[in-house]
Amino acid sequence: MKMVCGWCRREMGGTGDGADEVSHGICPECADFFENNRGVGLREFVAKLGAPVLIVGDDIRVESANAAAEACVDLKLPEIEGLLVGDVLECAHARLPEGCGKAGVCVVACALRQIVMQTFATGRPMDMVEARQEIWTGQGPREMRFWFSSALVDGRVLLRIDRVQKVGQGRETFAAGSAAGSSPDISQTCGL
Ligand SMILES: [Zn+2]
Repeated sequence: MKMVCGWCRREMGGTGDGADEVSHGICPECADFFENNRGVGLREFVAKLGAPVLIVGDDIRVESANAAAEACVDLKLPEIEGLLVGDVLECAHARLPEGCGKAGVCVVACALRQIVMQTFATGRPMDMVEARQEIWTGQGPREMRFWFSSALVDGRVLLRIDRVQKVGQGRETFAAGSAAGSSPDISQTCGL
């Protein structure tokens, strides 16, 4: 088992057993930043992280992201900045008329929204929480399993994308073709 910092991806040793398995933790440097450097160089800190990380405000708008996150969602930073988190991830529900986080289904059932809001409410980090989201891909909307981690730093949530996995087949419930072809498959672009 290899121990890796989930944020900066630095190796932190491990045991000889199960050499291919990776366990996420937090290294002393990242822990120290979260504890002590509140607000100081937040963007610079995030930019250096190896994992895809979004900086999210309490209105669930994305203030910034690092290069790993840009590659993951196949957008450039100026395109990401100011978008609601569901729009960045191409959540199918974010395209409902109400917008990301406002539709009934979002309020009741959006696990991603709950991770962000709960981190704001409690101030406690969350680790590898599974969230199923309906995401636009080149083949139309697909259910994706995400694993997210979070931390609250200086009034913002750092949202880390740990893993993305496709679930089952595409659904026909959304208007065919309305966005198909425009969005890359995030389970491919993320490579996680
Ligand atoms: Zn670290």
